[in-house]
Amino acid sequence: MDVLVVGAGPTGLALAAQLRAFGARFRIVDRAPGPVRESRALAVQPRTLEALAGFGVTDDLVARGSPALRLRLHLPRREVRLPLFDTGLAGTAYPFLLFLSQAETEHVLGAHLRARGVPVERGTALAGLRRRGPYADCLLRGADGREETLRARYVAGCDGAHSAVRDLAGIGFEGRAYPQTFLLADLEVDGLEPGAVHTYLSGAGVLFFFPLGAPAGWRILAMRPPGAPDAEVTLPLLQRIADRYTAGRARLRDPVWTTAFRIHDRGAARYRAGPCFLAGDAAHIHSPAGAQGMNTGIQDALNLGWKLALVCRGAAPEELLETYEAERAPVGRAVRRLTDLAFTFATGRGPAARFARTRLAPLLAPLVPRTAAVRRPVFRRVAELAVHYRRGPLATTGPRPPARGPRAGDRLPDLPRGLQARTAAPAWHLLLAGPPHRWPDARLAPVLDGRTDLIAVHRLGDRGPWPDTAHGLVRPDGYLGYVAGGADLAGLGAYADRWILPAEEMD
Ligand SMILES: Cc1cc2nc3c(=O)[nH]c(=O)nc-3n(C[C@H](O)[C@H](O)[C@H](O)COP(=O)(O)OP(=O)(O)OC[C@H]3O[C@@H](n4cnc5c(N)ncnc54)[C@H](O)[C@@H]3O)c2cc1C
Repeated sequence: MDVLVVGAGPTGLALAAQLRAFGARFRIVDRAPGPVRESRALAVQPRTLEALAGFGVTDDLVARGSPALRLRLHLPRREVRLPLFDTGLAGTAYPFLLFLSQAETEHVLGAHLRARGVPVERGTALAGLRRRGPYADCLLRGADGREETLRARYVAGCDGAHSAVRDLAGIGFEGRAYPQTFLLADLEVDGLEPGAVHTYLSGAGVLFFFPLGAPAGWRILAMRPPGAPDAEVTLPLLQRIADRYTAGRARLRDPVWTTAFRIHDRGAARYRAGPCFLAGDAAHIHSPAGAQGMNTGIQDALNLGWKLALVCRGAAPEELLETYEAERAPVGRAVRRLTDLAFTFATGRGPAARFARTRLAPLLAPLVPRTAAVRRPVFRRVAELAVHYRRGPLATTGPRPPARGPRAGDRLPDLPRGLQARTAAPAWHLLLAGPPHRWPDARLAPVLDGRTDLIAVHRLGDRGPWPDTAHGLVRPDGYLGYVAGGADLAGLGAYADRWILPAEEMD
């Protein structure tokens, strides 16, 4: 067995989809008897939609969800309407935040796996793990108590905040819990303009209404007011909170899911220990501000899956696996910083946070629609389109790099439109920009020798992402590994020799 995937939340399902696409031998198990029914994460970011498009599931996700086009910010004494994601999202086929419940996202990913003959083994928990040389002997326990030991070359811990893989591998999970308790419900709301996110800010804190669609029309998220009993979350309590913020305009009814929870901000000390890897909530948890949690987990998975699969197939050196933590741990830390900042602004009880909410926000918010230069980088960051691995070990800039266009380590933008779809097949993709006569087969031969089934070649003519003759190698997860100007492929050959093992060197 190449890989045991522990956990079939969004992270584990995405990882399984990629392992399947790259031909790894793996199993995926989940302790829970059935799929999650609660909505939980409710927004899919543009980068996640792009990344999942390679599996052919994005159209289904988009059809099931609703793109939110605007934010209505209800401030003390004024209201501001902000377009959501209206700028700075050129170069993507999905320039919107898709509101869709996590249960639906998991359903779509699960159906994709089923259609490809990959069963999710539910009611099966990882109960023990022992290192045996380079392998892991994993003890699996079924709901009926039956046990099985499975030897896996690698174990992917996609088993959430209380990860058993993390504990069994001895990896620490440092951080803190925020003092506030949050109340959440999926329900129907009368009196709100549909299709918009409604955010109410006051000195007391913040109240959100998110358009959901299924399993209910809306999600309400609020801080538990000081002095409110710790008992269950009731409709009257939520209505009292809503009344305080909306002056009675929003009428709540028909809750289908209510919960109260504390929020933690924690990160794994390492993303790997021997054969064990961590991804998703097992590696980082933080506030839901900015809808980053599930999305970051899916993108961890899509950074890891192809690396595991290609190493197991003998098509990449073991060293490739070291690049997973090097690339994804900084992203996890950046997401924790961003969400902590947003969370502190929205909920802090200190004078600075209250001043920011009640005085600064009303002054600055009306200016925001007019300041595309400010909104652009913020939207790109929240959309996770700004994530790059320029400083990672897989990014190499060759001679005479193009003055404009994507650089080594950048995500390949969908420019011109359709370029991402063209490079979605599970392989490395060699982009050759400039006149076709610059790219005769003989010139490519040394790079492709023994690697023709691993590298797809695209002669783009003048419809490439760079203005002049240039070439780049796109990794299987859609980020550029190598970029150089001109048509001399010597540097690219050295890059391929390092990271892509020709067939004759395979096991
Ligand atoms: C109330 C709530 C609201 C949220 N709202 C948002 C939001 O608005 N936006 C956002 O981005 N995120 C939100 N999140 C966070 C989001 O749900 C998580 O980031 C996301 O679920 C992480 O996915 P994951 O696959 O990494 O982990 P999980 O979804 O936790 O999946 C882990 C899986 O592992 C399984 N498992 C655990 N232990 C074992 C074991 N020993 N053996 C086998 N299987 C095991 C579990 O059964 C589970 O299915 C919310 C979370 C909660 C609880």
